[in-house]
Amino acid sequence: MSDDRENKEKRCSVCGRTEKECGRLIRMTDELSVCDECMQKSIDTVKNSPELKELTGQMPHFSFLNLGDFFGKQPAEEREKQEEEARFEMREVPPPHKIKAGLDRYVVGQEHAKKVLSVAVYNHYKRIIGEQKREELESIKAEGKIPDPSLPGEVEIVKSNILMIGPTGCGKTYLVQTLARLLDVPCAITDATSLTEAGYIGDDIESVVSKLLAVAGNNVKKAEHGIIFIDEIDKLAKKKNASQRDVSGEAVQQGLLRLLEGAEIEVPVGASSKNAMVPMRRVQTKNILFIAGGAFPGLEDIIRERLTKHSSIGFMSDLKDRFDDDKDLLEKVTTEDLRKFGMIPEFLGRLPIVCPLSSLTEDMLVRILSEPQNAILRQYEALLSMDEVKLTFEEDALRAIAAKAFEKDTGARALRSIIEAFMLDIMYEIPKDDSIGEVIITKEYVESTGGPRILLRGQSG
Ligand code: ADP
Repeated sequence: MSDDRENKEKRCSVCGRTEKECGRLIRMTDELSVCDECMQKSIDTVKNSPELKELTGQMPHFSFLNLGDFFGKQPAEEREKQEEEARFEMREVPPPHKIKAGLDRYVVGQEHAKKVLSVAVYNHYKRIIGEQKREELESIKAEGKIPDPSLPGEVEIVKSNILMIGPTGCGKTYLVQTLARLLDVPCAITDATSLTEAGYIGDDIESVVSKLLAVAGNNVKKAEHGIIFIDEIDKLAKKKNASQRDVSGEAVQQGLLRLLEGAEIEVPVGASSKNAMVPMRRVQTKNILFIAGGAFPGLEDIIRERLTKHSSIGFMSDLKDRFDDDKDLLEKVTTEDLRKFGMIPEFLGRLPIVCPLSSLTEDMLVRILSEPQNAILRQYEALLSMDEVKLTFEEDALRAIAAKAFEKDTGARALRSIIEAFMLDIMYEIPKDDSIGEVIITKEYVESTGGPRILLRGQSG
């Protein structure tokens, strides 16, 4: 008898489906097992009963369990709502020249990078829309109806993640953030150095997706169309020196392969740890656009070496010196150079679009101060205009700020701290005196050899 019971396939005692049909069964007693769906239905029935509502209304903080939360499954109605919200329409994705024009309003220079990104992102979202349509086609066919001829055929476009290479502070992160804002897609920014292999102290690799889910307001579908930027990717390079062998970076590169390519992974909602009793969600990464960025110090030497070797053995040897002060050397980067740097070939294969950025010149720093829509100087002007005080910067002063920032060699990053240092006194003193109408920042004030020019109301410069 007991043998009989064991041999018989287990079925849900409510809906009668087998474990194969409805997934894992929850065993209540020897005789009684229930599937997740029926269990949730019973909980929901009780939860929605008028009697219970009346009772729980009197009990604050009383809530019911959602089984799916604990098994990575999402309730069907929540999923449908999120799918509707997250659906992409082609008219919502601007063409590359419009994306670039949007980026131009915020990001100075980096023309080539802006172009590469605009086209890559446009194609990425076109690919998602193509996939949505293909799914539609499948379901129409499954229902036995005749599909609309405008729906796409079988061609599947392969996803193209992006690798950005450029010195610190040249706008890599800023470009990605601006892009995500323009497209209104969620964007998570993480640092490759904080990632570790599973089981080590630090964030495990899936935490990058968990972060994106949080930015997407826990909307799984929205997160699945988002962008993940992994900064400092160059720090994952294999060490060249064999005696210092450090495999952790390489292992993290290995670990990221699955995510870059597309995998369904289970991530905790609202926490980065899987250990705590937090609900889980399944997120598919195949439509997430991964952008990795890094400064890759020393990469230029590798490129130069390759180019020089090539030219010195042939008749082009007279070009050898040309590479010594070639400013666009990074644009000549190849996968082979990156591999030499220490990135593993499989990893590079999953980041097929390489987007080099140039270092910022002093002139570009001057433009960054005042040109972008939300330029730092414009922000200070707006702050002071609330006190009805006009703020002006002399051209020389802008140059002096840029020169100071340039010396620090951290790109545009240094600009804000330099300005904050000398604007502090102004922001503190000006509101004290109602008679002040205009403040003019001079080169001397920036260089701490003089003060700003102050004009009283009604007085002109
Ligand atoms: P990184 O290349 O190291 O990621 P970021 O993008 O974080 O550098 O740049 C730091 C800050 O400098 C940005 O927040 C932005 O304000 C400013 N910035 C950098 N590059 C540019 C640029 N090309 N145009 C306008 N602002 C820039």
